[in-house]
Amino acid sequence: MAAQTEESDCAREQTKAEQDVDQVRQRAARDQQRLDSGAITSPKDLENLQHEIASLAKRQGDLEDIVLEVMERRESAQERVAELTERVGAVQGKVDDATARRDAAFEEIDGEVATVTKEREVIAGAVPADLLGLYDKLRQQQGGIGAAKLYQRTCQGCRQELAITELSEIRAAAPNTVVRCENCRRILVRTAESGL
Ligand SMILES: [Zn+2]
Repeated sequence: MAAQTEESDCAREQTKAEQDVDQVRQRAARDQQRLDSGAITSPKDLENLQHEIASLAKRQGDLEDIVLEVMERRESAQERVAELTERVGAVQGKVDDATARRDAAFEEIDGEVATVTKEREVIAGAVPADLLGLYDKLRQQQGGIGAAKLYQRTCQGCRQELAITELSEIRAAAPNTVVRCENCRRILVRTAESGL
């Protein structure tokens, strides 16, 4: 935007400078006509007129230099605008690309959520109501994790190693007994890797 503003400022400056050149050129032409017409006869007036024509010519040259200088500035502003416009286009392309990838990821995640939700419904339907109730309550209390694997004598919910007495109790418990971590109270899931 700054480059575009500079470019349009230069354009205005150029128009103004060209108008200045035109004015001086017209005035010099009028003076020249008067000189050529022979209507002015006084030597003093003739000298004044010639003097004015000469100074107008110099003034016109100075103003034309200004026009050239402004045109040069305008040209580099135009180049800058073109370069920046190209860069904006490239960045916008990256933004579009990232947005498309994000949207695709959202879609994938939504699909996964739907699948997992359905799977959970099926599994939850097979769990006794009181156990599911306990699990849901623990899950709320324990940051979203109501049950944890017992892995190598350690509760994977709170990462605490279980005491020997607790481990013997769990070892002695029937497979369908719900056992819980003494430390965090989460339901412990026993596997072959529990270290019992
Ligand atoms: Zn625990």
